[in-house]
Formats: sequence, structure tokens, C-alpha cells
Amino acid sequence: MTNNSRRFFMTAVAVVPLHSIFSVSARAGELPKLEETNPTAIALEYVHQSAIEDQLCSGCQLFTGAADAEWGPCAIFPGVSVSGNGWCKSWVPKAS
Ligand code: SF4
Repeated sequence: MTNNSRRFFMTAVAVVPLHSIFSVSARAGELPKLEETNPTAIALEYVHQSAIEDQLCSGCQLFTGAADAEWGPCAIFPGVSVSGNGWCKSWVPKAS
């Protein structure tokens, strides 16, 4: 191994774990937004803006974000967030 390749290897070992740590903490704090083009979103007719006045993701039993959150987690779409004003055909009212 030459000095240059050894230096490259040592730099890669030092940089990659830091990059991974920062990526994980960014994901934990804020989930990426669900795309309307996601195949499951298409199948469930998900939209970011509901066309039905009293059926919003924020009022859905499967939405686990705060009631006034713009975006939040949904049990149907793990790893991403859905719009609080969104809707899909799995909408079910929150239990009161
Ligand atoms: S199930 Fe559908 S309507 Fe309910 S929160 Fe998730 S995306 Fe919104």
C-alpha cells in the first residue's frame, strides 16, 4: 500500500462513520416527506391536500403526529411523514 492509498483509506475510515452518524440523527429528528408518486401512496390515492373538508390526515386514527403538525408519521407509511392536511382512502376517524 502506497502512502497515498494508505492516507485515502485512513481518511475514508474517519469520514464515513461521522457521515453515517449525522444522517441517522437527521432522520430521527425529521422524517422525509411522502411523495404522492410513491406506489403505495398511488394505490391508496394519497394526496398532500385533502379534497374532503372533514377528512384530513391530522384527524385520522393512523396519524401519530401532533394534531396541529404540518407533517407527521402515519402507521401506513413507515419511515416517512404525511401531510397533516393530506388524505388517503384508508382514512379512519380518530377515536374520541
Ligand atoms: S392512513 Fe391515510 S388518511 Fe390516515 S394518516 Fe395515513 S395517509 Fe393520512
